[in-house]
Amino acid sequence: MKKIELHWQILISLILAILYGYFLSDYISYVAWTGDIFLRALKMIIVPLILSSIISGITNIGGSENLGRLGGKTLLYYAFTSVLAITTGLFFTNLFRPGIGAPIDSKPVEGLEAAAGSFGDTLMNMIPTNIFEALSTGQMLSIIFFAIVFGYFITQVEEKYSTLMTDFFNATFEIMMKITSFIIKFTPIGVFGLVAATVAEQADDQAALAAMAGSLGWYMITVILALSVHFFISLPLLVFLIARENPFAHLRNMATPLLTAFSTSSSSATLPLTLEAVEHKTGVSNKITSFTLPLGATVNMDGTALYECVAALFIAQAYNLNLDLQTQLIVVATALLASIGAAGIPMAGLVMISVILTAIGLPLEAVGMILAVDRVLDMMRTATNVWSDTCGAVIIAKSEGETLNLKKVSHS
Ligand code: ASP
Repeated sequence: MKKIELHWQILISLILAILYGYFLSDYISYVAWTGDIFLRALKMIIVPLILSSIISGITNIGGSENLGRLGGKTLLYYAFTSVLAITTGLFFTNLFRPGIGAPIDSKPVEGLEAAAGSFGDTLMNMIPTNIFEALSTGQMLSIIFFAIVFGYFITQVEEKYSTLMTDFFNATFEIMMKITSFIIKFTPIGVFGLVAATVAEQADDQAALAAMAGSLGWYMITVILALSVHFFISLPLLVFLIARENPFAHLRNMATPLLTAFSTSSSSATLPLTLEAVEHKTGVSNKITSFTLPLGATVNMDGTALYECVAALFIAQAYNLNLDLQTQLIVVATALLASIGAAGIPMAGLVMISVILTAIGLPLEAVGMILAVDRVLDMMRTATNVWSDTCGAVIIAKSEGETLNLKKVSHS
């Protein structure tokens, strides 16, 4: 019998999980543990994987000139696509105006005060005072910063040492990728547990279902429509126009990480699968994936940026705030910062809205208005975040002259 491809297995398990979670929510503890184990396994490999991936990537890039060029392109792509996403969100929110007349109710949301801290602090915290603390608490930006510095200086020491260290980190990376491939086999089972548990949790929440009938429903439609435009039109168009590759062939290759991003609501937890798929399926070199993808999972969040913008405007509309051009520009700029500052974990984007609310003078507790429907939007924005990272890797790889495993776009 022909083996069913992994992404079909995941899709089937996702559908079964929705049915199970909805109809058998009382028996959720029988299956939820599979999701927990899967997530724990992914989290277990993230830190050693990021560290070895970036260090081996930087040593392979070779020289500060190449590193600077690659870094420049990567940051340019991140900034451009995030602003494009925010603009799409801005457009649809102005078109539908979902927040006009929405009832204002504020529920307590944890972590708002801390998230409202300045962007300067986020940048400052990038430099760890204790790398071991950063590693043990999983502070991604600090780990990435240290790995880049460490990798760069490996190339600056005597050859005998640099060969030793390069070999060591290349070997560690290979081993981590082997572990990743092993864990990936369990994705359908893990996804089943994760999604069934999420659905069961939401199915009991009648208040959220009732709220969706009103303005929150419009709000969801606005976010989903804008995300779809960015996901299915804008990003594929960039891959087609700049990289001259078939974006939908690439999309098919990315099915496993995208479904996992959707199920886990975490770009960071999905990173091992993203690295594997972009490298082994689409065929981007390790040199580029190992640098761009971990960075992307942490700072490039198009879905989150778009969502930040729509959510903040929705709240502002509900509060009858005058949304003149200047206010909208502030929203665009702060949505970008908030998406960069958001960690790749579930609900990070929700609390980061406080950065925008502070900037336009609205109370932080207003975030509670959209809490009820955040879960499903989180799944969608996380998939968009990961999709954008992978498109970036393709575009950058092509600009560096690489040949990929995607069918060529015909020019005739
Ligand atoms: N969950 C998202 C991610 O991991 C971040 C967010 O909450 O927007 O990419």
